[in-house]
Amino acid sequence: MTRLARLLAGALLLVAGPLGAQEPLPIFDAHAHYNLETGRPVSVEEVFSLWHRAGIRAALLTSRPNEGTRELLARTPPGVRTVAFARPYVVRSDVNTWFRDPARYRLLETELARGIYVGIGEFHIFGQDADSEGFARVVALAMRRGLWLHAHCDDYVIARIYALDPGARVIWAHTGMTVALARVAQLLDAHPGLHGELSYRSGLPRAGDLPVEWRALFLRHPDRFLLGSDTWVPERWPEVPAIMEDYRRWLAQLPAPVAMQIAWGNGARLFLGGADPGAH
Ligand SMILES: [Zn+2]
Repeated sequence: MTRLARLLAGALLLVAGPLGAQEPLPIFDAHAHYNLETGRPVSVEEVFSLWHRAGIRAALLTSRPNEGTRELLARTPPGVRTVAFARPYVVRSDVNTWFRDPARYRLLETELARGIYVGIGEFHIFGQDADSEGFARVVALAMRRGLWLHAHCDDYVIARIYALDPGARVIWAHTGMTVALARVAQLLDAHPGLHGELSYRSGLPRAGDLPVEWRALFLRHPDRFLLGSDTWVPERWPEVPAIMEDYRRWLAQLPAPVAMQIAWGNGARLFLGGADPGAH
């Protein structure tokens, strides 16, 4: 073998691991809910067992109410990493009213005073609701405390957040769900602090070929996308390993370093100081 061939073989081995023993891509789950509002969806032990089966080595927690997040955070076993976001929610109907409800703003302040959170969200807001004084107040609160926002919203709201503060760091839940890809690309180009989380995002295949427009967007912005399980209802929990397999099918169609960035690297860089995924 020439020196170059040996180097190449070594590099391939690093990416793929020894033949036959290929590890599934490790995953940073940037959209995990342990909602306890209507009862426990699965036990804490089952959460970590599902994550183990799914290859999830780290998760961004956000729950309704915040007790679920705090419980998982406190009981995270060695080998798994968790980071927490605070939600302005106690019950489901809060998703429509939180930004004009002073009691929910106070809830956020109380939660944030615990000092365990790195962001606010996931919250829901659409269109001109983002022009409200209450929303501006929450964005200002996040900026003052150096926190992320995890926003389930349309492109109007993303533009509004950046009009309020060009330095905002945002996870766009579902990458806008159905917002036109050209608009998503435009917003990513314009705002370096914007990151797209991909659960339920329309246009991504469960099986089959990754559309060329998506491939182009991932190659243009490999450092701006994250995966998520979005366990928003109890039925979603048992599906978590299958959801991650669906992601891995289209990730396998991207260059290996890009797939690794989207699956693990971006979440680890943004929230874990660049930690490696560790042993499974
Ligand atoms: Zn969600």
